[in-house]
Amino acid sequence: MNKLEAKAKIEELRGLLERHRVLYHVHDSPTISDEVYDSLMAELAFLEKRYPEFDDERSPTKRIGGEVLDHFEKVQHEVKQWSFDNVFSLEELRDWNERNITLLQKEGVTQKPTFVAEMKIDGLKVVLTYRDGIFVRAATRGNGEVGEDITENIKTVKVIPLILSQKVSITVVGEAWMKKKDLIKINKERESQGLASYANTRNLSAGTLRQLDPKVVARRNIQIFAYDIEGGDYTSQEEELSKLEHFGFLVNKDRKVCRTLEEVQKFYEKWKGKRNGEDYGIDGLVVKINERDLWDILGYTAKSPRGGVAYKFPAVEVATRLLAITLQVGRTGAITPVAELSPVLIAGSVVSRATLHNANEIERLDVRVGDTVQLRKTGDVIPEIFGVFTELRPKNARAFVMPTVCPECHSPLLKEKVGKESSVAFYCKNKNCPAKHLEGLIHFVSKKGMNIEELGQKTVEIFHDIGLITDFVSIFKLQKVDIVGLEGFGEKSAENIMASIEKARKVPLHRFLFALGIRHLGEQTAKDIARHFVSFGKIQKASYDELIAVEGVGEKVAETVVAYFNDKHTQELLAKLLQEVSVTEEGKKREGNLSGKTFVITGTLPTLSRDEAKELIERNGGKVSSSVSSKTSYLLLGENGGSKYDDAIKYGAPMISESELQKLLK
Ligand code: ZN
Repeated sequence: MNKLEAKAKIEELRGLLERHRVLYHVHDSPTISDEVYDSLMAELAFLEKRYPEFDDERSPTKRIGGEVLDHFEKVQHEVKQWSFDNVFSLEELRDWNERNITLLQKEGVTQKPTFVAEMKIDGLKVVLTYRDGIFVRAATRGNGEVGEDITENIKTVKVIPLILSQKVSITVVGEAWMKKKDLIKINKERESQGLASYANTRNLSAGTLRQLDPKVVARRNIQIFAYDIEGGDYTSQEEELSKLEHFGFLVNKDRKVCRTLEEVQKFYEKWKGKRNGEDYGIDGLVVKINERDLWDILGYTAKSPRGGVAYKFPAVEVATRLLAITLQVGRTGAITPVAELSPVLIAGSVVSRATLHNANEIERLDVRVGDTVQLRKTGDVIPEIFGVFTELRPKNARAFVMPTVCPECHSPLLKEKVGKESSVAFYCKNKNCPAKHLEGLIHFVSKKGMNIEELGQKTVEIFHDIGLITDFVSIFKLQKVDIVGLEGFGEKSAENIMASIEKARKVPLHRFLFALGIRHLGEQTAKDIARHFVSFGKIQKASYDELIAVEGVGEKVAETVVAYFNDKHTQELLAKLLQEVSVTEEGKKREGNLSGKTFVITGTLPTLSRDEAKELIERNGGKVSSSVSSKTSYLLLGENGGSKYDDAIKYGAPMISESELQKLLK
């Protein structure tokens, strides 16, 4: 074979493999066997190696994933990535349509819009850029303006073409998702490795695409439904979707062109009933005006296009069996009954436990072990049991009786006095209860406490079980050799844990105080006390009267703080702990560019977590409040901000993005 023949053969193989990719991954109807496909691929790889001058980054042989990255670059989107407003009823959908018709009439347009209803997939939005028909970049949505460059990861995803059938320059928007059965499979693997499970398919998709190792992504069977083309000249959404199919993208077949909202409603009702039967999570429909010219006339509000709307499904309800009721002992000794359920998928998440709150709640529901129970989930809320099918109850099912002793240490359980009445919750009052201990350790290392990132809940549990950590001090006595060789821990993870502990040896006063897990002492109160007393020594010696004088400190807190530091056992522990960590003092009032300014945070910010944003604002003298009022100086607005956005408009509070916040700090 000469060079020219080799070049022709390489191109032929690439074209052939692309056609079979579409048949296999997009249409799910392969016409050749896996073996034949693999041998074509092997032949191409061989020729590319032999003739490196014809090698190409976009060759199908490159889908296996390249080098491990050390971070994702930031990407400025060429077109702002909007998100849709939500509606929850046909009435709200009609209002949306009426508003649009009125706006169109003002512009002198009397044509009534028609609609395309598409599935709203519970996944992760991705933005794919093609230049002259060649795939050049993929990015996450981020905050709509700036996302993360995930090109190397997306390149491994076989449902998207790397070369289009036409030499066009377009941006394609799609939703990346993963199958429910993949969630179950991957979670099983992770559990066996002692890793945390993914809560739902959306987290799994996001977690996968944010992997720095493209080879992991290549193995994970990511799916992408394409649904939008930016650039290009299309007269309708319908045409755009067919064009995407023509280009070799996977487009969800379950969509409908509707002339009226009644047709949309029919489609909605149909899918509301069968959404759980699909491979992917669906949380509603996206209803878009089909006519592109009408869409363009309507334009955009501050955060959404007017021509489309997300029509959300109501809360998901499923039925499953209650296998057992176990008791969980909290850090404070509070006993919470937990429903152990036969694992069930609800809104894309696998659920096997749900809180039953307290014995009264169990009585109210009359829920018994063996019962078939109704489980409900609304939005991001934790699933809850709200009903029981008593007609399905096994004959021998007995009512739950609250045990009288702690499941861990067998000390008697007591109700607390709250004023004159006793609380609904039972408590284990044993100071040395191992369960309280474990919860206390988990709290100690948590983000808002000592922030020892690499010591997650699972790891603390393992180390606690085998006696590697017994109290706060023992964490700082850990050595690498203790960890290496434990099941699931290698050289690298041991090093990470050690580095993370080292970092925690220097800790700001308020976080140290909160980490100790003193009863009733929340994060905010810890801050108030830290700011007032400035040093830990002064807090240890503070009297009840001194504490109660601090703004934000109530009687209960003052009492427990004094009792805590008066305890001899605690004093000994703290003396040892303070030899391991250095607590940095915090001034009374922090000054900075944000002094006197009050912020409210809503939505998901592009780079900072909410807690990080809060800390940043407070470090610069600002305050963070949880709701918008006339005193709000700024609303820090992230992706998918909720009702606070409307409140901010109501009160006229200016809205700023994360990058604008950073500017304020300079
Ligand atoms: Zn106990």
